[in-house]
Formats: sequence, C-alpha cells, structure tokens
Amino acid sequence: MDDVRYPLLSLSRLRMGTDGNGVTTLVAGAGCPLHCRWCINGRLLRDPQPERITPEELLERVKVDDLYFRATGGGITFGGGESLLHAEFIRRFRELIPAEWKVSAETSLAVPEEQLLTVLCAVDLFIVDCKDMNEETYRRYTGGEFSLMESNLRLLLRTAGPERLFVRVPRIPEYNTEEDQGRSADKLRKMGVTNLELFEYVIREKNGPVR
Ligand code: SF4
Repeated sequence: MDDVRYPLLSLSRLRMGTDGNGVTTLVAGAGCPLHCRWCINGRLLRDPQPERITPEELLERVKVDDLYFRATGGGITFGGGESLLHAEFIRRFRELIPAEWKVSAETSLAVPEEQLLTVLCAVDLFIVDCKDMNEETYRRYTGGEFSLMESNLRLLLRTAGPERLFVRVPRIPEYNTEEDQGRSADKLRKMGVTNLELFEYVIREKNGPVR
C-alpha cells in the first residue's frame, strides 16, 4: 500500500467552540496554494521540514480524547494551511476512527474539484473562509482564482448540502469594508449558504493578523 502522510505542523487538544462542534483536536498541516497578505503562517506553511505522519500515527496521538469526542459530539478538525490538499490522508484517517467522532475541515476551497470529491463522505463539516465574494478583491488579497473557490462552493452546496457548510466572511483590513462584507454575505445567502459568520481579521503585529 502506498504511503500517505500528513505534514504535521501542530496538534492542539481540547478546543471548544472554535472549530467544529463539541470538543475538538485541531490538526494543522503545512501547505497552501494561496498567498494571503495577512497570513500569519506564510513561511511556516511552506516549510519543507514538518514531521510527516501516517493516518495510524495520527490516530495514536488523538485517541486520548476519545471520551470527550463521544460525549460532546466533537472530534478532529483538519486545518493549516489548506487541509484539503491532504484529501486522501483525511479519507484514510476517517476509515480508521470510531463512527461517533466528527471530522471537520477548515478550507479556503482553493483546491482542485477532485480533492473535494475525495473527502465528500469523510468530512462532516466544511468550515470555509471565503475571503471576499468580489472577484477583484479576492484576487488582490489571495493571489488566487475566485472562479475556483466559487465553483467549489457551489459543488459543496449541491452535494454536501448547506447544513454541512459553515462559511466565514472576514472583514480584511485594507482590502474590504463592512459594506463589502455585507455584500459578500448577501451573495452567499443567495447561493444557498445558511450557516455563515461575519468576523474581522485582527492585526496585532506588523507581519500579520491573529484570527
Ligand atoms: S488561505 Fe489561510 S493559510 Fe492559506 S495563505 Fe491564506 S491565510 Fe494563509
């Protein structure tokens, strides 16, 4: 069997109400196709040195919280970076874990459609940071292709359904306004998104924001 590994940046246990339902463990991985201006992890995400672990090794490290996950409806949240770059890893990990655990994925949706299809049955909740729903603002802030994100969002709405989507709409200093944020939220609602949250990137340091 080929060796699918996850470039592990950090593992953060016993989180509540920040990334998915119940008690969660956030598993952050390296790699992201975007280049957001205020990314706090830019250099780290592209570091070729992170530890690379197998699905079985990850299970060994996170199973200590099995009872918390079962009792609260929580589980594992994959983040990063762009978690869906590691779609095949997530799919295999899902096959190993108890059915009661929930799996969430934080994503910008800036990945090929095939990655989404690979995890469609393996992820219970997609937590999407859409950046901005204006094409020009999106491109200026991320350097990425708006049409890819938008078509992936539509794909998820059609296949996973709005109840498995949580879309975060940021106010991005120097890039959009509260009015822009409202316009993005309206556009998302018209597309069929029902779970969304407006929030603001908070810049605490010169080099980037803390979100
Ligand atoms: S999508 Fe997230 S991880 Fe990727 S560059 Fe943007 S802020 Fe950084």
